[in-house]
Amino acid sequence: MRLPYEYGMRSNDADGDPVIVMSTNEAHDRAAADAWCRTRRAWQEEREITPDVTLMRRLPDGEWEEDPGWKSEITTWEAGCARIEAAPTDEARRDARSELDAWVEFKTTARETGQIRVKVRDYSAEAPWGVGLTNPVVRAIVISAYCVVCGCPRGMPRRIHQCDDGVHYWPDVWNNPCGHTDMYEAVIKEAEEFAPAGRITLFGEYDESSGEAG
Ligand SMILES: [Zn+2]
Repeated sequence: MRLPYEYGMRSNDADGDPVIVMSTNEAHDRAAADAWCRTRRAWQEEREITPDVTLMRRLPDGEWEEDPGWKSEITTWEAGCARIEAAPTDEARRDARSELDAWVEFKTTARETGQIRVKVRDYSAEAPWGVGLTNPVVRAIVISAYCVVCGCPRGMPRRIHQCDDGVHYWPDVWNNPCGHTDMYEAVIKEAEEFAPAGRITLFGEYDESSGEAG
């Protein structure tokens, strides 16, 4: 899928003025620009220079804006580090650290594979309303790691508890930093199309007792 955005790296020049540079032959490649910004930021951190790098994007003939996914990752990372430092007890510090580790693992896997795994409620697999008992069907599916509208990384899924007519179930929800909302119906359709030919990406019925997909 070719995305409409062009990407560039904003940082400060020798006079401290912000400049945006972009690779003209990879202008639409968010992953390349993202890697470029990361490398630059790591380089600055190693030299104990205050990082001033930001991934920028713009629509054709549009204004440059901060890439919301990049911005959200930096904010999440810094907030996670601050929580570890501010933890009042060893236990709280361990919890904050494992929370940040889980997030880093999610981001790394998403970047490396281009995919994320989510558990969603599949209404189409359920009995129509008013027919029989409520029986929520939750499926684990694989979808793109990136928003289908703008190409920003999708948010990290978190499991929530829901109860419908006394039946408990645990689907995932996630907030995309770009603000585009994913509906369960749309991502199920996406998972079917996203599957390379012959590969099954809709897998596992939900096991109510363990809360895990089989
Ligand atoms: Zn988006």
